[in-house]
Amino acid sequence: MHNHKRGILIVLSGPSGAGKGTICKELLKQCDNLYLSVSATTRNPREGEVEGVNYYFLTKDEFREKVAQNDFLEHAEVYGNYYGTPKSKVEEMLDSGKDVILEIDIQGALKVKEKATDGVFIFILPPSMEELKARIIKRGSETEESLMTRFKSAYQEINYVSKYNYAVVNDTVCEAVKKIEGILLAEKCRVDRIKESILESKEGTIHEQLYD
Ligand code: 5GP
Repeated sequence: MHNHKRGILIVLSGPSGAGKGTICKELLKQCDNLYLSVSATTRNPREGEVEGVNYYFLTKDEFREKVAQNDFLEHAEVYGNYYGTPKSKVEEMLDSGKDVILEIDIQGALKVKEKATDGVFIFILPPSMEELKARIIKRGSETEESLMTRFKSAYQEINYVSKYNYAVVNDTVCEAVKKIEGILLAEKCRVDRIKESILESKEGTIHEQLYD
């Protein structure tokens, strides 16, 4: 009997401006077997953002409705808006054998960690706090106030690195992506993930030799 191997759940977080978004995009280009979960949010679309591609943009009422229906794997309030990970799609993808990336904030990641103990939790760090500030400013989509809020919370958030399995410094996107690919490769070889299928295939061979 062949068990279809379940994909790996990868949770990527870190302070805004650390470069999570760019890293995710690049990872998706490099890895065929990867699905990036599209979150729901109540914040307004930024220029160029597309419904169903970057986010599902919902009203607060629509969002609350989905919370009530238990549609989210996790949800959190980030800078005054709600964000949530649609549960059914993530499950469907993992079951089909795809690896799934969640690019979510730290509160969300900690909630997922309680449920999905076999997930891989990766924290993306900026090369320096100066660089982080420069990146947040360069993004330019924030008002002065939200810029300061994001920068201050970035300082606090870095303390949460100890809750994660891996920390990846984003010096350059290329290097960061290489490190994450290395992490995934190693995770796929972990005995606790694959021992059952190894033992099963061993049994299968013995069965064939004895009875075929
Ligand atoms: P942005 O508004 O800049 O797209 O995202 C703001 C923050 O919300 C980022 O840290 C991003 O990772 C996080 N975020 C995006 N989607 C989700 C989600 O589904 N759940 C949680 N908890 N955070 C999310």
